Amino acid sequence: MSMDRIEALAADHGVRLERDQLLARFTFFGVGGPMRALLCPTSMDVLPGLLRDLRGEKLWPRILGCGTNLVASDEPFEQPIIYLGDLKEEPRFEDDKVYVSAGFRLPALVRRAMHHGFGGLEFAEGIPGTVGAALAINAGSFGGSIGDHVEWLRLVDADGNEQVIHPQPSDFAYRGSKFVGQGLILDAALRLQPDDEAAIRERLNDIRARRRASQPLKERSAGCIFKNPPGESAGRIIDELGLKGQRRGGAVVSEIHANFIVNRDGASAADILGLVEEVKGAVDRATGIVLEEEVALWEPDREDT
Ligand SMILES: Cc1cc2nc3c(=O)[nH]c(=O)nc-3n(C[C@H](O)[C@H](O)[C@H](O)COP(=O)(O)OP(=O)(O)OC[C@H]3O[C@@H](n4cnc5c(N)ncnc54)[C@H](O)[C@@H]3O)c2cc1C
Repeated sequence: MSMDRIEALAADHGVRLERDQLLARFTFFGVGGPMRALLCPTSMDVLPGLLRDLRGEKLWPRILGCGTNLVASDEPFEQPIIYLGDLKEEPRFEDDKVYVSAGFRLPALVRRAMHHGFGGLEFAEGIPGTVGAALAINAGSFGGSIGDHVEWLRLVDADGNEQVIHPQPSDFAYRGSKFVGQGLILDAALRLQPDDEAAIRERLNDIRARRRASQPLKERSAGCIFKNPPGESAGRIIDELGLKGQRRGGAVVSEIHANFIVNRDGASAADILGLVEEVKGAVDRATGIVLEEEVALWEPDREDT
């Protein structure tokens, strides 16, 4: 991959290029190795053309939102990474829908909706990521998830083509969707319910209090590490095995919520991933259940990519 070529593409599309930044600075966990090329668009409009041109160079970059659902390797990332956290386009509310770009933050969207007199997204209070990533993994909590609200979403696929998709309910699953790995989600229209601002505020306060009481919000993490197995709670299983407080380097199974691993003392990705494997092994041996990661795991780029 020629760095000059990426620099030229970034300039053509008016996108800021940062070289040799540490991914750890962009992840909530605080881990991740050096990135050779970080592309930082400030407008959604440039993305289809940029992706098409990168694809023309046989590059398919990784997509980075707020890095709140990510365990990224300590090794260098040679392929370009597109950072969506600088996209600040305001959502547009019309009738009972909101039109929102992928880089917008979920908690800010919940608040904007409340001020416009719309509810339905309260489940997303305290989910600290971007709308685009939330759509890809069908983020949710407290009985709701974002997939239930999607009227349409726009995606740039692996060939650089834009598609507007009106998803079926079956396109979304528990913490997953058929859009994972299919390309970059650009924006979406979400259905909302008109509601009283005071009632919405009360529900948000309740959810915030429940999160504060049950999650290690003062420490660095990536939210829940594992998906809940059908009919079970991953956190309860890990807790019952006495694994709270288990440590590998600077990574610790939270004493507050056993399905959170926290970065307490300068953990590396290797510490976190080692602890993930220890917990999975212990759960498998004790229960026969093989836990599946909820977080995205970014392996280092292979030399042939
Ligand atoms: C304290 C805490 C609490 C949390 N609570 C919850 C919770 O209750 N429920 C829940 O579901 N999650 C929760 N999370 C996890 C996380 O906040 C959500 O999954 C969020 O949607 C991730 O957004 P992000 O922008 O940080 O994604 P990132 O971590 O940047 O990316 C995650 C994955 O999505 C991909 N991606 C990012 N943007 C796009 C895009 N536009 N198109 C396609 N793919 C994309 C990335 O390539 C990556 O593979 C929590 C995290 C923390 C730290």
